[in-house]
Amino acid sequence: MVLTSASVSPACTRAEELPGIAWAGEHVEVATFVDVDEEVCGATLNYLDQYAGLLRDRFGTHDDSPTLYYYLPDGVGPYFEECDGLGGCTDGTTIYATRMPQEHELVHASIGFFSYPVLGEGLAERWGGDAAPPAADAIPLSEIFKRADGGGRLDATDYETVLHFVSHLVATYGEQAVLEVARALDFFDDQGDLDRALQEQLGTDLDTVVSDYETNAEWCRAFHARDPSMSCALAERASCGDGTGHFLVVDADMRCESDGVIGTVHEDAVTRSFTFDVDVAGPHVFRTEALGEDPPVDFSEYGWVVLERCEAGCGHVVGGLFHDETYDLEPGRHRILAVRYNPMTDVNGFRVVINHGTPDNLVCDAN
Ligand SMILES: [Zn+2]
Repeated sequence: MVLTSASVSPACTRAEELPGIAWAGEHVEVATFVDVDEEVCGATLNYLDQYAGLLRDRFGTHDDSPTLYYYLPDGVGPYFEECDGLGGCTDGTTIYATRMPQEHELVHASIGFFSYPVLGEGLAERWGGDAAPPAADAIPLSEIFKRADGGGRLDATDYETVLHFVSHLVATYGEQAVLEVARALDFFDDQGDLDRALQEQLGTDLDTVVSDYETNAEWCRAFHARDPSMSCALAERASCGDGTGHFLVVDADMRCESDGVIGTVHEDAVTRSFTFDVDVAGPHVFRTEALGEDPPVDFSEYGWVVLERCEAGCGHVVGGLFHDETYDLEPGRHRILAVRYNPMTDVNGFRVVINHGTPDNLVCDAN
């Protein structure tokens, strides 16, 4: 969700006193009533800060003043009326959110401009991290344009479609070209303005672009359609095996206080992720079990683990790691994302062991 600075005046609408700053990084300051030492998981604050830094680098954002992130898990409405009932929103420099991290709002706040909502929300979803918007079927763009025109609000179920639309534009015209079109527009523009921007910036028009999208774009769930490059850049590196024939062993201690765990005790789930590189294509066997349990227990009631390639677009998610899975992998960087439901029970994490035919086929840090 996005609100423009023109449409909000926090001083008039704030009902309750907002909390003070509890943590300050280079790009993000977090203000919350929550005890950040006790209730925010190990890696979360640095992850938030670094994610914002990567976004600013990627978009060439010139304003280097920090984004203020209000983390209000009990609801934003009492503090900021325009955001009532929403998981988060931003006025461009300040984020009000019931969840942390909320990468979608960081994109809005880091990108340095608002845009026509179809592009602005599509860009925010493209780098929206590991949370997904409500699953929805494809919605005709003509319906979404009508909702967006003149500063309208998209339906939650529009977000998957605008993510796909923006991803298709990026795949067709390149990221910088799409950013130029988005920069040329503002929140209150309409589809006529989008048509003009496409003609000026890309030498095409809206009818052509929509027809190409509706004919050729591939459809998949939002999590699969995102660009995971920033999540991959900030993931931990999987360590080498222990010499027992396991070429990679990922021990994901998922207790909130562990280094590397992202989320808070107030979320439904916390995450942790690791990258590794495949040098030679071929089958890889993944064995996944609950960490520290002997005999190993089925971990699926405690969370889930997914494997993806570190590249954008439908198809980059390879699949789930349920127990013993074999996947044919192509060379390149991959990420293992472990998701642990809250609250914690007796199982504290997951172990993923990756085997391949020869040790030369996997590269990992030697430590
Ligand atoms: Zn948004």
